[in-house]
Amino acid sequence: MSRYWSPLVHRLSPYVPGEQPRMPNLVKLNTNENPYGPSPRALAAISAAVNDGLRLYPDPTGMQLRQAVADYYGLTPAQVFVGNGSDEVLAHVFLGLFQHPAPLLFPDITYSFYPVYCGLYGIDYQTVPLSDEFELRVADYLQRNAGIIFANPNAPTGRLLPLAEIEWLLQRNTESVVVVDEAYVDFGGASAVALVDRYPNLLVVQTLSKSRSLAGLRVGFALGQPELIQALERVKDSFNSYPLDRLALVGAVAAMEDREHFERTRRAVMDSRAALCRELEQLGFHMPPSAANFIFASHPQRDAAELAAALRARGIIVRHFRLPRIDQHLRITIGTPEQNAALLAALGEILA
Ligand SMILES: *Cc1c(COP(=O)(O)O)cnc(C)c1O
Repeated sequence: MSRYWSPLVHRLSPYVPGEQPRMPNLVKLNTNENPYGPSPRALAAISAAVNDGLRLYPDPTGMQLRQAVADYYGLTPAQVFVGNGSDEVLAHVFLGLFQHPAPLLFPDITYSFYPVYCGLYGIDYQTVPLSDEFELRVADYLQRNAGIIFANPNAPTGRLLPLAEIEWLLQRNTESVVVVDEAYVDFGGASAVALVDRYPNLLVVQTLSKSRSLAGLRVGFALGQPELIQALERVKDSFNSYPLDRLALVGAVAAMEDREHFERTRRAVMDSRAALCRELEQLGFHMPPSAANFIFASHPQRDAAELAAALRARGIIVRHFRLPRIDQHLRITIGTPEQNAALLAALGEILA
């Protein structure tokens, strides 16, 4: 607290990111990073751009990247917005599309950054409970609102909402924007991008942090009709004209173009997920079906916080949320087969 702070800053309750400890040989399964490296073509493009060109500002419109994303999804660059990680894209979404005189709606269990943006921008919100099995029931969202946002697959549950349900909601909620945060969609979901041309109030947000293994580069994007994209551009150009630097732009373009690396690594994660789920079930864990690069597991006989502490003592970190309804669950990122084996061996020891 300080008398120099703006009053708003006193009232903020900032997001707490998963820790990034600097410990050697750590099995780091706590922040849903991809265990496989980024595309070698992306790394080569970044290296090639480390030169005298860095004295120049980057393209403020990010046009080459918007074109690469548009090409990947069969859209036009006017339907693509790019930003410094999808967290920044989401921040612009909250400011640019959700400040209306009605509450914003999102699930009671979802990405914990959403209420933080509401606090920053003074947006009123109401959470909508998921079912006991953590399912999102779209009918619960048919009420007056300033907008609707949810992650699909959801975080931290991993559960996927079928595309038909999203379309059902879009057909009935026509007066506000519906944002689908698809940070994990490449690990087993069908993207709502397929609906963008038919629904002017649909915005899909994605990131290169998870499925393209570039969390350190900070690149995210939004897909929607030009009317929505223009709102995000207006906010961006009132905040920072150059959110993506030259290295991020060229690296992201190359990553979007390297489909072979993308397909191979996401397939490896999905295959490991299936194996890991089977093994965790044999150890007595329960988990909802995951379409993401993590699983959300609970053990009927063991306290989740104690399990997390026991894993940490063995050099393995997973995420535990001290929050209502989910404080007996662990969110475990899918690692390499070796990391997953280390996790299973440690859990076998702890549970024995
Ligand atoms: C990881 C994540 C993001 C943020 O991704 P960045 O692009 O790294 O900012 C957004 N939404 C959800 C649900 C996430 O899990």
